[in-house]
Amino acid sequence: YNYPIERTAIVTGAASARGIGRDLARRLLKAGWHVGAVDLDATDTSDITIDIDDAALRLSTARADISKEEDVEEAARHFERNLPPVLAVVNVAGISDPTPFLQTSLDRWERVLRVNLTGTFLMTRRFVPGMIERGVGRIVSLSSTAAQSGGGTYSAAAYGASKAGIEGMTRALAIEIASTGVTANAIAPAIIDTDIMGGRIDEERLPYFTSRLPVGRLGRVDEVSALIEFLIGPDAGYITGATYNINGGARIG
Ligand code: NAD
Repeated sequence: YNYPIERTAIVTGAASARGIGRDLARRLLKAGWHVGAVDLDATDTSDITIDIDDAALRLSTARADISKEEDVEEAARHFERNLPPVLAVVNVAGISDPTPFLQTSLDRWERVLRVNLTGTFLMTRRFVPGMIERGVGRIVSLSSTAAQSGGGTYSAAAYGASKAGIEGMTRALAIEIASTGVTANAIAPAIIDTDIMGGRIDEERLPYFTSRLPVGRLGRVDEVSALIEFLIGPDAGYITGATYNINGGARIG
């Protein structure tokens, strides 16, 4: 049983101040992980490490566009120089897009697919071989209820297609590497209180979003990162190829 004492997680999309990636990076640092934070935007490290002992020593950041193979390679080399071997990759970075199908240009379609799906593919493919070599690893990728539901809140065809693609890729990868000690899973949140849906969900927009959620409130980033922490942890070695709903009852079954 190879789960190491020194753990490194790569978290993409960790720069967003109110986002899931930032909250996850903080949670993992608090739990003693080393974290490699990747984002298109510069990551404010002082903000992530604040009040966490030694966290500054365990956090490394890289600016990268995950949709570009050369960026992914450069970030990976940076982390391999600065952090212990990578145990987990959490693919959080993504973009939303509410453009209706009939108005979706080819450029727009390709950008959403390129970031959400190809970016997840590139990050995952870069790190899985090392995990296989060490006999242990964890991949968790962010899907969305939109993969199944047809979207409707702040997403449409391109976003739904990219997220359904992530689930399909995760299942195929999970089976392909199942015997190596590396697991691959997806999680599918409904509406989490972040800024991805065209900025903060203010009082005016709140009723529209909560009306779609049986529990009657938005999800919180810490509820998502708690699930991810479990899935990349030592007790989740028998979970692979799964997609976990975390959606306040928005979609059941
Ligand atoms: P967010 O917008 O707060 O954060 C996304 C981060 O990804 C940003 O920091 C952004 O800079 C980064 N990013 C975007 N494109 C990138 C690229 N090409 N390369 C590197 N980084 C890039 O979003 P969030 O709400 O925290 O969402 C995180 C993930 O969860 C996304 O994949 C999203 O689709 C998914 N998700 C979110 C919700 C929700 O309600 N918030 C629901 C379902 C799924």
